[in-house]
Amino acid sequence: SVPLGFFGGIGSASKNGILVKGGNYLEALNDVEIAVFDKTGTLTKGVFEVSKIKPDGNITKEQLLELAAYAESYSNHPIAKSIIKSYGLSIDQTKIQKYNEIPGHGIISVIQNTKIAIGNAKLMKKQSVKYKNVNEIGTIVHIALDDKYAGYIVVADAIKEDSFKALNKLKSLGIKKNVMLTGDNKSTAIKVKEKLNIDEVYYELLPDEKVEKLEALYNQKSPHKRLMFIGDGINDAPVIARADIGLAMGGLGSDAAIEVADIVIMTDEPSKIVTAIKIARKTKTIVW
Ligand code: ADP
Ligand code: MG
Repeated sequence: SVPLGFFGGIGSASKNGILVKGGNYLEALNDVEIAVFDKTGTLTKGVFEVSKIKPDGNITKEQLLELAAYAESYSNHPIAKSIIKSYGLSIDQTKIQKYNEIPGHGIISVIQNTKIAIGNAKLMKKQSVKYKNVNEIGTIVHIALDDKYAGYIVVADAIKEDSFKALNKLKSLGIKKNVMLTGDNKSTAIKVKEKLNIDEVYYELLPDEKVEKLEALYNQKSPHKRLMFIGDGINDAPVIARADIGLAMGGLGSDAAIEVADIVIMTDEPSKIVTAIKIARKTKTIVW
């Protein structure tokens, strides 16, 4: 049974926009030793903007962007949304003959009998496309037409102002280690790590590999301590489910992530985790 004080704690958490699905989770927040974060949409805004369009071969920037927007038109991924927005014109979806989204990779579409592959280097390798190794700040979205390289688009996302404060505070509350897991590339991951002063980052992870990393992190914690994971996307649901305490950012978060979470943060502010831990500590003093 749950000590009565925890219901008070849950109430005060909910007044702060933090939904705790049981008193045991609030209690568990007192023992967090390792905090693990998803990057896109959790520590960063998750709203990308196209910053560069670089065609390769016999194609214009406008054509490359148009093909990219068509290929992405059914996707809800934040990268897809930025490309569709940057294109800005209406998309005639009757021209799309095939559409296949590959998690952690990108999309393969057939548009007017041309096969379009759009996504990261992993996708290009999978399709045996000879792609360019580019050194740009941001996330590189490669495009191939009928398995021939056609260029890339750079999209960039910004760190949430609130993330700086949140991660520092967690350290001062005694959390030993902040970790970030991301499907994004190395250079973007390292940049965010340095800016936010994160202890460890793991990048280019597929959804399954995020779960494997979490398992590995469990081995690093002290026996009676806890590990929490905070994410927002549909890909984060398995990791949220696996963590001692799984948190979903509910502001823009996916239903799947919210469903499996132990705690839901109703805004897009990571600093709500700090608030939740403070409430948990206060509740504990009242209970004892
Ligand atoms: P994250 O951990 O950043 O939430 P995802 O698993 O959603 O990562 O995506 C990982 C990577 O896969 C992205 O950084 C991107 O390179 C690529 N990717 C996934 N979906 C798409 C898409 N619809 N269009 C282009 N690239 C994509
Ligand atoms: Mg995310």
